[in-house]
Formats: sequence, C-alpha cells, structure tokens
Amino acid sequence: MIVALLMSGIIQLVIGIYVMVQGRKGKNYWFAGLAFSAALYSFSYALELTADSATAAFACVTLKCLGMAFLPTFGILTVLEFTGKRPRVVRNVAAALIVFSTIAVGIMHSTNLHGLYYGSLSLTKTGVLTITQITPGPWHAVWHLYVNVSFVVGAALISAEALKAPAGKKSEYLLFLTSLLMPIAAHIIYSMGHSPYGIDLAPYSLLGMNVLLLLGLSPNRLFELLSAAKNRVFDNMDDIVFILNREHEVIEANKSASKILGNRAADCIGKHVAEVFDEYPQVVEFVLYNNDSAADIALDDEFSRVFRVRVGTIRGIGLSRHRVLLGKYFVMTNITNEVRMVQAMKDLADQDPLTGIPNRRWFYSQVERLVAAARTGSQMAVIMADVDRFKETNDHYGHKAGDEVLRSVASLLARSVRAQDLLARFGGEEFVIAVPGAGLEEAVALAERLRERIRDMRVMHDGRSIQVTASFGVAAGSVGPGFDVETLISQADGALYGAKVAGRDQVVVSNVSA
Ligand code: GH3
Ligand code: MG
Ligand code: MG
Repeated sequence: MIVALLMSGIIQLVIGIYVMVQGRKGKNYWFAGLAFSAALYSFSYALELTADSATAAFACVTLKCLGMAFLPTFGILTVLEFTGKRPRVVRNVAAALIVFSTIAVGIMHSTNLHGLYYGSLSLTKTGVLTITQITPGPWHAVWHLYVNVSFVVGAALISAEALKAPAGKKSEYLLFLTSLLMPIAAHIIYSMGHSPYGIDLAPYSLLGMNVLLLLGLSPNRLFELLSAAKNRVFDNMDDIVFILNREHEVIEANKSASKILGNRAADCIGKHVAEVFDEYPQVVEFVLYNNDSAADIALDDEFSRVFRVRVGTIRGIGLSRHRVLLGKYFVMTNITNEVRMVQAMKDLADQDPLTGIPNRRWFYSQVERLVAAARTGSQMAVIMADVDRFKETNDHYGHKAGDEVLRSVASLLARSVRAQDLLARFGGEEFVIAVPGAGLEEAVALAERLRERIRDMRVMHDGRSIQVTASFGVAAGSVGPGFDVETLISQADGALYGAKVAGRDQVVVSNVSA
C-alpha cells in the first residue's frame, strides 16, 4: 500500500513535470500545480502511514496539509482554463483562491495553537500501518465544505460547457467530468467509513484523475485549441474590444486597443473607462449610459475617424436566480472608410452631373432645414430662372454647345449668390435660388443683377461666341404659421411665366402676396 502511494506520488510528479514542459505551448500550469499538490499529498501520506511517533506523524500531516490545501484550488483553476475562460478571469479567481489556500495552510499548520483544524491527534497501529486519527475542529468542516464545493463547481462548469460544446467535443468534456468524479467518489467512500483500514483514498483517486486528464486532454489539443485559440482571435481581431467590470473599470482589452489609445493601451487595465477615454467623452458617455446597443461615433481626433461602438452586458446566474450584471464589453469598429464612401455617394446623389451644382432633390432637403432654422417673422425669397429660347440655342449651335451654356450659367449663378443661399438646377434649363433673410426688394435686386450678368456673358464654343438671356420670377414671404416653401416656389414659377409672356429677359415679381 505504501509502495502504491509512493508510485502514485512519483507518477503525479512526472505528470506535473510533463505538463510544465508541454505547458509552454498551452500554458496549463494549473494542471501541473494540481499534479504537484497531488504528488505532495501522496508522498506525505505514505510517510504518515509509516510514522512511528506522534511527532513524525504530525510532521507528515503538516506536509500533507500543504498539498491538500492547494488541490481544490488548482482543480478549479484547471477547469477554468480548460473551459476557455479569459486569462484575466482565471488570474483574478486564482488570486482569491490562492489567498484562501494559503490561509488554510496557516490554519492547518498552527492548529495545535488554537485547535481550529483538529483538537487532538492519536495514532493507531494496524499491522505495519500507522493510522492517524484526529478530532476535527470547526475549520475542518469549513475545509471539507470548500473541497466538496470546489469539486461540485468544477463539475458544474464542465457540464455547462459540455452542453454548449459541439458533438465532437462532448466526449472530451465527459472524460474531464469522469476524472473529476473519481476524487468525489473516493471522498464519499472515505467519509462514510467504507474505505479499507480507514485509509484516505484521495491519493489514489487523484492519481486516477490525473492520469485520465493527461490521457484524454492532450495539452496540445484542448488547452491550446480552446483557450489559446480564443486568446489569439481576441488579440488579432481588427475590432477593438474592451471588457469592463460593474464599476466600469477596464479589466481586459485586446491588442487592437492601441489603435485608439496608442501607447496608453498598455496600462489601461484597472482604470475607469472615463479616465482611459478622457480624449473621447462621446465614447465614455455612450458606454456608460447604454446597454446592448450600438452607435456610430465620430471622434474629434486628427484623423476624423468614425467608429461603430457596440455595447453589451455580461450577465451571470446570481443567488436570486436573476441574471445579475457582472460587467460590460464594448467593441469598436473603424467605419471611417464606409462613412466616407456613403457620404461620397450621397454627395453624388445630390449633385447635378452636367453643371456640378446641387440638384432639385438636394434643394428640397435643404430648404426644409433652412425654413426650420429661420426665426419666425424672418423673410425668405425664392427666385426661379429659366434660359430664354434655349431650344433655339440647341438647334442653332448643337446640343454640346447647349450643355456648355448651361454649365456657364450655373457657374455664374454659383459665383453670384451668398454662401447661405441655396442654388440648384431645378430642371433642364431652369434654376432655383432660395434667399434666406431677403424680402421682395432685395431678391428682385439680386435677380436683376443675375439677369444682366447672364445677358453680358459670352460662351465660346467651337470658335463661336454664344449669347443667351434668362427670365426671372421672384416671390417672397415671412416665415411663420402658414408659411410654405412649396407655395413660394409655385408663386415664383408663376411670376417666371409672366416674364416669358411679357417678352423674356426680365424680372417679374409674383403678384400674389405670401
Ligand atoms: P422659353 O424661352 O419659353 O423657355 O423657351 P425654351 O426653348 O427655353 O423652352 P422649352 O421648354 O421649349 O425648351 C427647353 C429646352 O432645353 C428643350 C431641351 O432640349 C433643352 N434642354 C433641357 N435640358 C438640356 C440639357 O441638359 N442640355 C441641353 N443642351 N439642352 C437641354
Ligand atoms: Mg427656357
Ligand atoms: Mg424651361
């Protein structure tokens, strides 16, 4: 039996070393730790069984406690690593559990001072074996609870993951689960007093577990594929990912974070998102006050980049069976190129291809905005212009010459209006101008100026000089209830018709008062 224990210890030591060596590829040091603590446990138990004095037995129990204290902790961490939990999560859980295990070691080792772990220790000789009997103290119960809970939590985590796993992967989870059940079963048998000679079966069951894990979970296959691959994808994705805790502190960020934070990405962990993104308050505001939604945010930086920011919540099962909020994540995708492309397409859709000035569609979309922005009672005028007898110009000089004339008229008009005026090609050889803040008089003066400039203009085409004139209709009104741009446009159009009837090359004011 002692030989078996020693063998178990040696095998587990070898497993631990093997996993450490392999571990460089898959980073499964927790599994190595599990094997080492199991080895320590086995060795010290073997020594304990051969101890011939209470002092020696006590020394062995002390050593055994060291191995035992870290077993469930490394067990849980192996499971977390195996199920592909984020390294930072594993690290945080590791820190907490290792502190707990260290305290446990302290309590176990100083038990003769306070009797928290066991009150007394007595030796019983069974043939050659020395069975150490203890009177459990209160910590003993706490410790056993921790051991049991660890195995149950481990089994639950594996089961949950197994349910989600694709069919091909399920067998690996089942194997892990089976290996975990071995020490649980051993513990139950031992606690119920059914083990032969009252021997703790844990070292044997742990050996079984470790061998099974090693055989089934070839480190290259699982640890590397599941957790390392997830990490690789996380770090190499183009999107920028941040994970926040409930206090909105950054607990994880991928490598792409440097695309937005530059060098500061390296030390953003642990800082509040508002501090990390102090240059981009719009991002902070969106992330803080939104859950599970997305927005396109233009950054105020030298590159004028636009990011689609998606915020999601991370929830877990709480004690109350409600899905409690554990934290948030947000993903930032650089959509600057797409936004620019869409803008370029919109610009094209708003532009008249022949003359390069805006078209009627743009005019209507902008005039609404202009009216909405205008103060109540402020004036607004509309001027409609139409080239006279343009059909004849086409007929006489050719269609290409006609196009050239239209381009010249358009650019003359564009040069003659103010930045706040809206100029558009309304149709064939017809143009419209909305003049915010202008009454009839001012608009008529502008129209007169334009009419004269067009008449004075000469367009050279194929060595021939072309002259055209245009007729103008003007209408004006004051912004307020009942004001309608469409009405103003049709009044200006009516006046334009009047100008044509009256002989062309003139400005006519709408006689309908708006
Ligand atoms: P009016 O003085 O009454 O306005 O006479 P008009 O000939 O200008 O009027 P009408 O509406 O009869 O003819 C407009 C002409 O404008 C007909 C069409 O061929 C020409 N036109 C419209 N769009 C274009 C264009 O893009 N390029 C050219 N070259 N001609 C155009
Ligand atoms: Mg015309
Ligand atoms: Mg016309």
